[in-house]
Amino acid sequence: MNSIEKIRNDFPILGKKLNGKSLVYFDNGATTQKPNVVIDAISNYYKDYNSNIHRGVHQLSQLATQKYEDARSLVQQFVNAKQREEIIFTRGTTDSINLVAFSYGRKNLKAGDEVIITAMEHHSNIVPWQMVCEEKGAVLKIAPINIDGDLILEDLYDMLSERTKIVSLIHVSNTLGTINPVREIIHKAHENNAVVLLDAAQSIQHMPIDVIGLDCDFLTFSGHKIYGPTGTGVLFGKKALLDEMDPIQGGGDMIKEVTFSKTTYNELPHKFEAGTPNIVGVIGMAEAINYVNQLGFDFIHQQETLLLEKATSALSSIDRLKIIGNSQQKSSVVSFVIDGIHPFDIGTLLDQLGIAIRTGHHCTQPLMDFYQIPGTARASFAFYNLEKEVDLLYEGLKKSVKMLS
Ligand code: PMP
Repeated sequence: MNSIEKIRNDFPILGKKLNGKSLVYFDNGATTQKPNVVIDAISNYYKDYNSNIHRGVHQLSQLATQKYEDARSLVQQFVNAKQREEIIFTRGTTDSINLVAFSYGRKNLKAGDEVIITAMEHHSNIVPWQMVCEEKGAVLKIAPINIDGDLILEDLYDMLSERTKIVSLIHVSNTLGTINPVREIIHKAHENNAVVLLDAAQSIQHMPIDVIGLDCDFLTFSGHKIYGPTGTGVLFGKKALLDEMDPIQGGGDMIKEVTFSKTTYNELPHKFEAGTPNIVGVIGMAEAINYVNQLGFDFIHQQETLLLEKATSALSSIDRLKIIGNSQQKSSVVSFVIDGIHPFDIGTLLDQLGIAIRTGHHCTQPLMDFYQIPGTARASFAFYNLEKEVDLLYEGLKKSVKMLS
C-alpha cells in the first residue's frame, strides 16, 4: 500500500460507491472530506465529556473548556499569530467577514471613504461590504482582473489613496484557482494606511499561513474546508484592532458585568463569542489541523500540484473545452466550460459515473459576468485524490461531450 492509499483509508467516505462506481470526490473547494480522527473527536466529545464551557466547576466542563481553549492555541500556532486572544472562533469565513464589516467597518467608515475588493471575490466578501458601505455612505471599489484571472496590480495600486480605509481580498480564488500576491498588496495598502482583510478560505488548506509574515490585519477561514466540521471558522485580527472593535452580538459569555442600566464587555477573545459556541466543532477542527500538520504542507503541495498539472493538460486536450483561470500561480482548481454544453449537464452526467464536481457560479456571479458565462464546471483537488481519478474525469468528460453534442 503506498502512502496515498494509506491516507485514503483515514477518510471513510472515500471508499463509498455511487451507482456501483467508486466515488471520485473532486468538490474539495466546496467542502473537504473528514478523516477518522475528526469524526472520532466529535463522537468522543458527546460520548465522554459533553458539557458547556467556561465557568463550569465540574470536571466535564473543565475538560471541554480546556480542549476548546487548547484549540485556540493550536490555531494561533497554525497561522503564527502573536497572541491567542487574536483568534476568534466563528461559524465560518462568511461569519468572520461579516463580523469585521459590521464591527470594524461600521465604526471606522464614514461618507466618502473607500473599501477596495477585487473582481474575483466570493459573494461572502462582496455583500457584507456592500451593506456596510451603503449604510455609511462609503464607496466600494473593485480592483479589476485580466482574462487569465490575474489581478491587474497597477490598477489596484492606482486605486489606493488616503480615502481607502479597508482592502478586503481573496487569497486564493475558489473559482479560478489564482493565488494572489498578497504580501505585496498588503504592503502597498499599509503605505496608504488601509487595513487589510485576507479571505483565506481557499488557501488555509493548501499552504502555510503566517499572519505575522504577511502582516495582514484580519484573516478569515472555515473549518470545513480544512478537513474539519461545518459550522466552524476563525477570525484572526491584530489585537490592537480587535480591542477597539465593538461586539455585534450580545448575550452570554461576551459580558463582564450586566445590569439593567449598563453592560460591560468581556475581554478578547470572548467579547466576540456570544452564546454557547460550537464546542464540538472547534474540537473537531483542532483535530483536522493536527492531521494537516502531521501530513505537512510540503507533501500536500507536491500531491496537489501533480493533480493540477495532470488535470490541466488532460482537460486542455478535450475538444471545445476551455479552462477559465490560467494564472501562472494557481492552486489545485480547474474551472472549465465546454462550448455548446451547459455546465449543469456535464455535472449531471459525471455524477452518474460517481464523479462529484461542482457546477454553477461558485458564489462569484460578478466573475461569471466578467467572463460572460452562466457558470463553469469546477474540479477541485485535495491531497487524497489520485492520478487515476483524474483519468476517470478525463474519460468521463470525453463521454459527456460525445453524448451531449
Ligand atoms: N470565501 C471563499 C473564497 C470561499 O471559497 C468560500 C466558500 N465557498 C467562502 C468565502 C465562504 O465560506 P463559508 O461558506 O464556509 O462561510
